[in-house]
Amino acid sequence: MSLKKEWFLELLSIPSPSGFEEVFASRLLERYAPYGDQVLQDAHGNVAVVLNPDAPYTVMLEGHMDEIGYMITHVDDNGFLYFQPIGGPDRATTEGQRVRVFSESENRWVKGVVGGKPIHLKDRDERDRARKYEEMWIDVGARNREEAEALFRVGAPVVLDWDAEELLNGRIVGRGIDDRVGVFLAFETLRVLRESGLRDIRVVAVAAVQEEIGLRGARTIAYEVYPDVAVALDVDFATDAPSHEKDQKRVGKVVLGKGPVLLRGPNITPAVFERLEEVAKKENIPYQIVGAPGATGTDAWVMQVARGAIPTGLVGIPNRYMHTPAEMVDLEDLENIVKLLAGFVRSFEAPERRFPRGLVEVKD
Ligand SMILES: [Zn+2]
Repeated sequence: MSLKKEWFLELLSIPSPSGFEEVFASRLLERYAPYGDQVLQDAHGNVAVVLNPDAPYTVMLEGHMDEIGYMITHVDDNGFLYFQPIGGPDRATTEGQRVRVFSESENRWVKGVVGGKPIHLKDRDERDRARKYEEMWIDVGARNREEAEALFRVGAPVVLDWDAEELLNGRIVGRGIDDRVGVFLAFETLRVLRESGLRDIRVVAVAAVQEEIGLRGARTIAYEVYPDVAVALDVDFATDAPSHEKDQKRVGKVVLGKGPVLLRGPNITPAVFERLEEVAKKENIPYQIVGAPGATGTDAWVMQVARGAIPTGLVGIPNRYMHTPAEMVDLEDLENIVKLLAGFVRSFEAPERRFPRGLVEVKD
C-alpha cells in the first residue's frame, strides 16, 4: 500500500481556516469522488464520499478540514490590517511571520507580513512576553486605507504563509496539518477499501468543517449520517521532543513514528477501542495508548453523542509542535493508520461482529 503523498502535500497548500473550507473541500472531492459511489454535502459545508451507499452497516471515518488561522477585524487609516485568531494559534509564533490574506475583490490570496516593533525599541517587559493581537498588524505594503480596502474587507481570512514539505526520514512539516492529515487518512482509507473490493459495508469518509472553533461541523454531519460506528481522526501530542517531561506524566509518552495513538476513556466507546486494538495486534501494527479522562477536545466528543449514542473511537496521529506553523507528522505513522482503519472497517464484514447502535431492548 502506498499513500498518495503528493495529494497530501497539495491539500496542505490550500488555506482552509474555519468557515473558509470550500476550496479545500472541492479539491478533496475532485481527488476522491472517483473512489466512491456518492458524494454528499450539507449546508454547513461538510462533505463526504460514500462507498457502497446501499450496504446495511455504516462506518463513518472523520477528520476536520478546517485549520486555525486569523481574521481581519479592522483596517486603519495607514492601510495596516488588524486581526484576531480563528481557533487557537500560538500567539508567540505570530509576529514576524509571512501571511496570506484573502482578497474577495481579486479572488486570490495576497501576501503580507505580521509587523511588530524592532527588539531595540521594545520595553523590557515587552521583550519577555508574546505580543497581544491588538499590538500586531498585517502589512501588505498598502500605503493607505483606500488601497487596503480596495483589496480586503473586514472578515477576510488569513493564514500563515507556510506550505508543507518533507524533511529527513519521511517527516512532513507544515501549517494546518491539524487536521487536514486526519481528512487525508479517512479518504485514503476509503480509496484503499474501494481498491480492495469491499462490498457489504457502507463507508462514509467525512471532511468536517469548523472543529477549531467548537466541534461544530462534526455535530451536524454525524446527525445526518447517523453511522453504526464512527472513528474520529485527529492529531495527538507527540511528547518526544525536548522539555516534555512533565507533559508525559499528564498526557502520556507519544513518540513520532511509533504508530497510531489509540485513545481510551469515557469519550471512546470501549468496544471500539478494543476492536481497534485487536486489529492492530492481528496485523502487527505498532500502536500507542493514551488515556483521555474526560470529553476529548476532538470531534469524537460530539460524534459519540450525536442523535442517539453512536459507538465512537478516536485514533490520534502523533504530531509535534501542534498549533504552530511547523506541525510535524511521520509518513510511516500515516501508512499504519490507514492499514489500521481498513482492517477495522473489514472487521464488520462478519454480521455477528457488528455493534448495536441506539436504544436496544435488553432481554434476559
Ligand atoms: Zn487543532
